[in-house]
Amino acid sequence: MENFKIEVDGDGIALVTFDVPGRTMNTLTASVIREIGELVETIKSDAAIKGVVFTSGKTTGFCAGADLGELGGSGGIGGGGDLKAAFDAGFALNKSFRALETSGKPVAAAINGLALGGGLEFTLACHYRVVADNPKIQLGLPEAKVGLLPGGGGTQRLTRLMGVMAAAPYLLEGKSMKPAEALGFKVVHEVVPAGTEVEAAKTWIKTKGDPVAPWDKKDFKIPGGGPYSAGGSQVFVMGNAMLRKTTYGNYPAQLNIMKAVYEGLQVPFDAAIRIETRYFLKTLMSPQAKGMIRTLFLSLQELGKGAGRPAGVPHYDVKKVAVLGAGMMGAGIAYVQAMAGIETVLIDQTQEAADKGKGYAEGLVKKAVSRGKLTQEKGDAILALIHPTADYANVKGSDLVVEAVFENRDVKAQVTKLAEAQLAEGAIFGSNTSTLPITGLAKASVRPKDFIGIHFFSPVDKMGLVEIIMGEETSQEALAKSIDYVLKIKKTPIVVNDSRGFYTSRCFGTFVQEGMELLADGYAPAIIDNVGRATGMPRGPLEMHDDVALDLSYKIAQQTKKDLGDKYEERPFTAIIEKMVEGEGRYGRKNGKGFYDYPENGPKTLWPGLAQLAPTKIAEVDKAGIEEIRTRLLYRQAVEAARCFEENVITDPREADVGAILGWGFAPWTGGPISLIDGVGVAKFVEACDQLAQKYGARFAPPALLRDMAAKGETFYGRFGAKTKAAA
Ligand code: NAD
Repeated sequence: MENFKIEVDGDGIALVTFDVPGRTMNTLTASVIREIGELVETIKSDAAIKGVVFTSGKTTGFCAGADLGELGGSGGIGGGGDLKAAFDAGFALNKSFRALETSGKPVAAAINGLALGGGLEFTLACHYRVVADNPKIQLGLPEAKVGLLPGGGGTQRLTRLMGVMAAAPYLLEGKSMKPAEALGFKVVHEVVPAGTEVEAAKTWIKTKGDPVAPWDKKDFKIPGGGPYSAGGSQVFVMGNAMLRKTTYGNYPAQLNIMKAVYEGLQVPFDAAIRIETRYFLKTLMSPQAKGMIRTLFLSLQELGKGAGRPAGVPHYDVKKVAVLGAGMMGAGIAYVQAMAGIETVLIDQTQEAADKGKGYAEGLVKKAVSRGKLTQEKGDAILALIHPTADYANVKGSDLVVEAVFENRDVKAQVTKLAEAQLAEGAIFGSNTSTLPITGLAKASVRPKDFIGIHFFSPVDKMGLVEIIMGEETSQEALAKSIDYVLKIKKTPIVVNDSRGFYTSRCFGTFVQEGMELLADGYAPAIIDNVGRATGMPRGPLEMHDDVALDLSYKIAQQTKKDLGDKYEERPFTAIIEKMVEGEGRYGRKNGKGFYDYPENGPKTLWPGLAQLAPTKIAEVDKAGIEEIRTRLLYRQAVEAARCFEENVITDPREADVGAILGWGFAPWTGGPISLIDGVGVAKFVEACDQLAQKYGARFAPPALLRDMAAKGETFYGRFGAKTKAAA
């Protein structure tokens, strides 16, 4: 066998070592699944084998689960459209695991590291589980996070071990557990010192070795009761309501997991796993799962390896970085750099302001130490890397500068000159501006080839995306070096070309604006935000507008008006914002006054005065009305993303989708705005946008690119995937 090695000892115990060649981590590839089937046959038929212990040959862990590259690809299960063949393929793993469980021989899993998804399911099909005592080990079923359902018996075995209530967060949210927690839940039987798992598993086989799973015993009872018991029925009644509240029906995976558990727990185990496989396939073949696997797993992984990096530039190891401006953003950037081992010079106008910026990192480190996530020694070493100062001479020796001073062209020009005076040849200057075009800012630079946009998101330590912006003169070398930096601080880079609002702010802005359009149309604010949330966006457009700050969008509108002159299109909602900011001093969440009031103790409430500024004309909407608001909010963003392709602001569908979900929280169930358009079909999307444009105006008008793609029957991933393929 390619992936498993079998050694039978003197006691007749077969030690099967799982070790996929050429990979750092075991996954369940098609070849592994086939060999598991063969292994089970050998175990059953070889009389010399009295018992089996499975372990892993990888130091990284036991198994990370399904190979999502294979599963999510067009050649994956169900790709050919033959449902019978899809069921057989989808059921293969369940069938082998069940055959192992009912082989009549005791089987134990010696878990030396993480066991996730199909990896954990593998061990759940063993009669006994021993895990190494290491709190870093994760055991869990993360499938739901990428829109999938555990399809190797996980929905049936975990609930029968833990009870439905306790298993719910692990199945529905993809939470993982540490060995000690797993022991508490009786998901594993023993936690032993690392390195002794195999020995402990063999001892169990020799001393107890019970080859019957709990659910195959006559007296088996589901912990907490099944769906028709008093306790169990409550779980499902409450669970359904909670599911609706958290997913708004956007995520088939969670609903199908609930259905598989509900139906599966009422029938014998062999029927239960067939039910699971049906729901597994239904989920796998949904456009939501396809989009989520592609964006949230495959593309994210590719971009995390530098897929957008120009080839041919040697790796740039950034060791020292100067951060200009120790405000909210600068302080966060200094912290993530120090965490990545980068020496950081943190500069502000005064020593006091710079020290205050370092204080942010000190606070975070203190918290991590108190929670046992970091030792005091490591925490001190991280903080020692941050040097707060007001003296630009300390920029000397930096490989990179990240500028995060006030959003003001003159201030930025001044600090660019001060920092560049200290920089050696080949060092890069990155600006964290959120709105000012990079090409314009680069005019202050004597080395525009090395000048680039490195746009972080707030809060820097939590947000995983960095948008890299190419100015007109930025070199490919500067791009490669910037990507190396972003990867070093463990963030995901996307690369865009210069444009007003770049890619992320520009598209996100349309969501907030469409919320304002709905308000000006007379929709009740509560309807706008409720439907906004139901689209799968993290919050409604008015709430998000409050978070971003109303005075900021007011200022940006004023600036845009000035810049665009006659081309600026005045909208009815601009008057509402003007009155709120100028007349009422309502700046949003930051001063506790926006569309909502934010009382100190208590939840936010809609500002009553809004009724005068934007009188409600539509206080009720039917199902079709809700659908139209939903479409307006999502399609408005998607059509803007398509315009960004047409204008060459963004060029890679993977970056567009990953950037949207990580950057501004675009509804994850879609797989991103570009996957949304591809999923709907470009021609259908164009037709819908034409109708919206007729009713609501040119902001919905599909760009020529979309019409061309519709005429040719193309998709974004097909047409723009060439770059993707070339890079691969
Ligand atoms: P901030 O006001 O919190 O911080 C700016 C800091 O720059 C202040 O501490 C200020 O003292 C310092 N500063 C001003 N002039 C300076 C000079 N000549 N030399 C050194 N330091 C100087 O602002 P912020 O929110 O951290 O934003 C900084 C930049 O990041 C802006 O360009 C902003 O547009 C951009 N940005 C902000 C966000 C966000 O969510 N706040 C997100 C992405 C990008």
